[in-house]
Amino acid sequence: MGRIVAIGECMGELSETGTPGMLNMGFAGDTLNTAFYLRHSLGPDWQVDYVTAVGSDGLSDRMVDFLTGQGIGTDHVRRLADKTIGLYYITLKDGERSFTYWRNDSAAKKLASDPAALARALDGADLAYWSGITLAILPNQDRLALIEALSQFAGRGGTVVFDPNLRPRLWDNPDTMRGWIHRGAAVSQLCLPSFDDESAWFGDADPASTVRRYQAEGAARVIVKNGADSVTYADGSGISTFPIKPADQVVDTTAAGDSFNAGYLAAELQGAPVRDAIAAGAGLAGRVIGARGALVAEAVKRP
Ligand code: ADP
Repeated sequence: MGRIVAIGECMGELSETGTPGMLNMGFAGDTLNTAFYLRHSLGPDWQVDYVTAVGSDGLSDRMVDFLTGQGIGTDHVRRLADKTIGLYYITLKDGERSFTYWRNDSAAKKLASDPAALARALDGADLAYWSGITLAILPNQDRLALIEALSQFAGRGGTVVFDPNLRPRLWDNPDTMRGWIHRGAAVSQLCLPSFDDESAWFGDADPASTVRRYQAEGAARVIVKNGADSVTYADGSGISTFPIKPADQVVDTTAAGDSFNAGYLAAELQGAPVRDAIAAGAGLAGRVIGARGALVAEAVKRP
């Protein structure tokens, strides 16, 4: 028996279908994607809860119903009276997707505004999963509250896992982003960055530099994803690499990193050694990018 909490923002997704006037409605978001793949990868002896805030309107109800329908626990989804969820719209042009967001006032920005609720959500959990996007959407005071709650959780023996998921557009400026990302990493035992983001915004020359930088901030273990290139990791005993088999067919890379993280964690939680867990993460991500959309249940190979 174990319990995982994923903390962050899930949004409504409207996407063009190719038929004028017809849209698809779905739900996605980085931490939710990982929660989805964890839920589908792990057996019933694991509980996967999502921690966020939504409104009390019909659209928020739809999201909660969606989470419940996927088997994801919603006991720690806070309901706010005067808010609703964030939304994004995917325009399809010549097979290319572009995104328009309405999330400036989304309920999820309040997900850490009640420290007691946060403490209850983390109480008794084994693993807390969060990201740089979770941190980005919060006001400063709530960033501190979440970091403090996770620090206490780690102090009680919980494992905190952080994907920096650098999104400069969600931050006031890149320096602010860099500062908070390092504070987030400092309370996390395992960091799961992607090298293309890290090289762009931290100027890392190679993935080993990314590993060393996050270790210097306090993350004991670091696993750096790098698209079709090798994964570079440190789990306490030096820096190693793990080769990735390039996918035969890449249809849509949405949620590659999120699904990798879930595949990795699900394997590790079931006792796999680090290289087997990386292989599981890479296998899942490789299947997810072979299909359209963020949430591809068929990509999961059940235990
Ligand atoms: P992100 O989605 O966070 O940018 P990456 O692009 O680094 O993450 O990819 C995450 C993981 O997805 C990689 O470590 C790898 O396992 C898998 N992956 C991504 N692109 C490919 C590809 N072209 N072929 C095979 N695996 C891939």
